Amino acid sequence: MKKILIVEDETSLAELERDYLEANGFAVDIASRGDEGLKMAVTGDYDLILLDIMLPKVNGFEICKQIRSVKEIPVLMVSAKKEDVDKIRGLGLGADDYIVKPFSPGELVARVKAHLARYERLAGNQKEKREELQIRGLLIDRASRRVYVNNKEVVFTTKEFDLLTYLALNPNRVFSKEQLFERIWSLDSMGDIATVTVHIRKIREKIEADPSNPQYVETVWGAGYRFKG
Ligand code: CA
Repeated sequence: MKKILIVEDETSLAELERDYLEANGFAVDIASRGDEGLKMAVTGDYDLILLDIMLPKVNGFEICKQIRSVKEIPVLMVSAKKEDVDKIRGLGLGADDYIVKPFSPGELVARVKAHLARYERLAGNQKEKREELQIRGLLIDRASRRVYVNNKEVVFTTKEFDLLTYLALNPNRVFSKEQLFERIWSLDSMGDIATVTVHIRKIREKIEADPSNPQYVETVWGAGYRFKG
């Protein structure tokens, strides 16, 4: 269930908003003071914040700014004044949208749903990107732990996969054999530094057109290995 925080000092309005949102399947908390709302927004795990502007202690502009510096969740500002709208736009606070009082509960619920859906899409896209690494003809699918070279699947052992993925996630950075061994094998009692060399050779045989002239995992003499991003 999606959780929404309403920061609003007009109790009757806050309760009306809550009732409509709850009727639409959301879980809702209310903060009636700015300082309280800010604290809840930053420390709680809310999916969306509905934020009034004129609030006791800390105003909505300040709260929005502070939420934005720590969290990527939709913030919908609620305004009673036309002038506020220009301010929301002008200040670049990072608010996702604003809604002007008085508004219909139906409009509020529609906006909330639209913003939650948009954020989910964005988060989903980012997740997919991290899970699939595509580097020229090489595709590493981290979710299924599969590797494809020029669209053909190549079978990798667990450690080969871990080592290749680690290098590919940190392109153009040189890692010493010691660093790689510690990163990939640290939890195993078996093996030693020479294992890294053996695995690099095997990875090259699998992904490089010419393993003696590697285009992905390069040797940096005297330093270690580097994934060419
Ligand atoms: Ca207010």
